[in-house]
Amino acid sequence: MKIINTPKDLPAVHTLIEDKKLNNLIGNYGAQLVTKCAKNVLSGARKQVLIGNPTNYEKIIETLWDETVRAISPSLIPVINLTGIVLHTNLGRAVLPEAAIKAMNEVARGTSNLEFDLSTGKRGDRHKHCEGLFCDLTGAEAALVVNNNAAAVLLTLNSLAKRKEVPVSRGELIEIGGSFRMPDIMSRAGCKLIEVGTTNRTHVTDFESAINSKTGLLMKVHTSNFQIKGFTKQLSEEELSNIARRHKLPFITDLGSGTLVDLRTYNLPHETTVTEALKSGADLVTFSGDKLLGGPQAGIIAGRNDLIQKIRHNPIMRAMRPDKLSLAALHAVLQLYTNPDRLADELPTFRWLSRDISELQPLADSLLKSVQDKCNDFQVCIAPTHSQVGSGALPIDILESIALKITMPNRRRPGKALNTLGKAFRDLPVPVIGRITDDALWFDLRCLENEEHFIKNLQHLKIK
Ligand SMILES: *Cc1c(COP(=O)(O)O)cnc(C)c1O
Repeated sequence: MKIINTPKDLPAVHTLIEDKKLNNLIGNYGAQLVTKCAKNVLSGARKQVLIGNPTNYEKIIETLWDETVRAISPSLIPVINLTGIVLHTNLGRAVLPEAAIKAMNEVARGTSNLEFDLSTGKRGDRHKHCEGLFCDLTGAEAALVVNNNAAAVLLTLNSLAKRKEVPVSRGELIEIGGSFRMPDIMSRAGCKLIEVGTTNRTHVTDFESAINSKTGLLMKVHTSNFQIKGFTKQLSEEELSNIARRHKLPFITDLGSGTLVDLRTYNLPHETTVTEALKSGADLVTFSGDKLLGGPQAGIIAGRNDLIQKIRHNPIMRAMRPDKLSLAALHAVLQLYTNPDRLADELPTFRWLSRDISELQPLADSLLKSVQDKCNDFQVCIAPTHSQVGSGALPIDILESIALKITMPNRRRPGKALNTLGKAFRDLPVPVIGRITDDALWFDLRCLENEEHFIKNLQHLKIK
């Protein structure tokens, strides 16, 4: 191995890439990418040589392999979510059940009847695939799937109340993480938002006096990610639908999470279900596919058929239509809902939300030593914590959970060391994501199921 300690001994790019040792690399990744990476590697080596760090030819070849592989490796990769937030928007929200993954696989692998009617042999309708199950499960007359719930709200408002006024209670003018603000959506939908009532209290009379000939519809928005406590009043679905009916206006409610089942079955606080919202008089409800429903990213509009037809024929529908993979996954998820007894087993979202401390404690016991062994300078213990549902659903700490809590008892300001440790966990082949609060790094075990996989992955932990 000849040491290279001066730039003039570095190979030229074209000589380097003609080396037979790179034949496989170029075969796999193409000459263009390898040449580009070779330039980077050589310029890096040149800088190092100039500051007195010699290299050698073999090392250059090896770095070039690594650099090329890294250059096109995906940046979107699986991670292990130990944040304690079950539906974490930044971590991809709901994890799909096996049935949905299988359905997507089958549809992805070949052609499908996405918009083809097998009985007539003519053009079919992609919206039919999930509509039947949605109607059966919610009592809706019709249902429409779009790209996400933001699209569902935008499309609904634009189709039913363009150039019209939409009164909404001030207490419901929310912003959802990632800058979805109801007032902005309203204006982009071409509607004029009329703020009604005060931040904490809105009355029937407030709505009544806001309605005039320019009013397009009434809307209720589920205040997903915050709560106003104390002296408060928002109108119920019944109250709003009564007002809407008196004025012959449609009443729509944006449920946000929109669950199809009574969450009390899973020891969670009750949330208005889609069925209940429709029963109490909503003409349309909109909700997400990847929040409490536990499915793929999607937005669902369900309710009165005549209104759904208007929305379907809006030209911007085309820009928001769901793709075949989402439809396949969504259908498989809805199938699970036909027998709710299975949900806690087969739908990861419900499995994790309903996981009991008694199941997490033995997991914590068995992981404690492996984690402590890898984190010598830290103290690892088992501590009670609270998980959150996430994605704005049920905004309070309600889920008792168990975490591995990593601290530095002898350090007055452990912040930096904990940040470094957090980074080391994120640098694992499958990054592990926790959260730092109260001078500790917390790994909430609620969403961890594959213990063996976790421990194997942990063996790669490198603390700097
Ligand atoms: C989450 C949420 C939305 C946006 O839904 P996406 O599926 O993220 O587009 C809209 N309205 C409410 C009330 C929500 O909670």
